[in-house]
Amino acid sequence: MMIVMTPQADQAAIDAVRAKLETTGVHVVVMPGELTTAIGAIGDPEGVERLNLEGMAGVDRVVPISRPYKLASSELGHHGATVLDIAGRTVGGGSTFCLIAGPCTVESEEQTLAVAHAVKAGGASMLRGGAFKPRTSPFAFKGLGVAALEILAEARAQTGLPVVTELLDTSHAEVLAAHADVVQIGARNMQNYALLEVAGKLGKPVLLKRGLSSSLEELLQAADYVLKEGNEAVILCERGIRTFETATRFTLDLGAVPWLKLHSHLPVVVDPSHAAGDRRLVEPLSRAAAAVGADGIIVEVHQDPDAAWCDGPQTLVAAGFAAYADDVAAHARLLGRELA
Ligand code: PEP
Ligand code: MN
Repeated sequence: MMIVMTPQADQAAIDAVRAKLETTGVHVVVMPGELTTAIGAIGDPEGVERLNLEGMAGVDRVVPISRPYKLASSELGHHGATVLDIAGRTVGGGSTFCLIAGPCTVESEEQTLAVAHAVKAGGASMLRGGAFKPRTSPFAFKGLGVAALEILAEARAQTGLPVVTELLDTSHAEVLAAHADVVQIGARNMQNYALLEVAGKLGKPVLLKRGLSSSLEELLQAADYVLKEGNEAVILCERGIRTFETATRFTLDLGAVPWLKLHSHLPVVVDPSHAAGDRRLVEPLSRAAAAVGADGIIVEVHQDPDAAWCDGPQTLVAAGFAAYADDVAAHARLLGRELA
């Protein structure tokens, strides 16, 4: 439910409403606006109705929040678009575009540092790299684990690029948070609710990938799991979904970008690599993502993709990254965005 206060309501009236709501155990969000304050009360709408808040001083009306997603909804976009500052890189808000680039997985210090320096020189805003890899087959390479986190930290020290890396299991949460600047939740874990709650408590921005077969409403409800832990720094990621089409690895849902922008206040990035499964499609899809209003891209890059341990066919060649970044930046500029 949403409690809309009158323009005259003072702080004492707002505090009284909050205190009354809290007696029901609902999640309360106070949203000061230019004219009026709105108070979101999430969970147990019947319990909120029984409080008869309309009779309280300063309350104008009590209205239902209509959508299944609450905290991620633009209805609760109390400060407008969410704008994140990740070690000086702005994500969200419409004037910047962030390029998150790096290998699918950390293979060695030499490999990771080489890619990190190449993408930094080409204009990347952040470095990606998997330390713990979700693999379809249990016999495939699962990542170097903590050793990879240390390599990523070294790459950050040398390049200044913040590190984005995937949290696969709650048991790795602390060590991962100690090394990462952004905690990635992979597509396969979008509905791993225990993991989302742990990620929400780490105090680091979370990059949440859309599940392989998840609707956008489900994605925003997954974001609610992180947001309700008090973590407002969530970046949504469209990475392609399962459809009847098998020519591409997944079907990149570009319509998701403007839809999410309409219905949520959270930043949205696109992963053209996992969607395409083919590096020849990555640059055109990246241009399209920039042109359709994405806040950034997360893309796989390797010095020698043919020798990569994971996802080589969809991985860009590091030597071509600067030209790729220039092309994407030109398309982002069409919408008034500069590289973060
Ligand atoms: C990744 O980014 O490395 C990854 C595994 O992606 P996804 O979860 O989207 O498959
Ligand atoms: Mn990959």
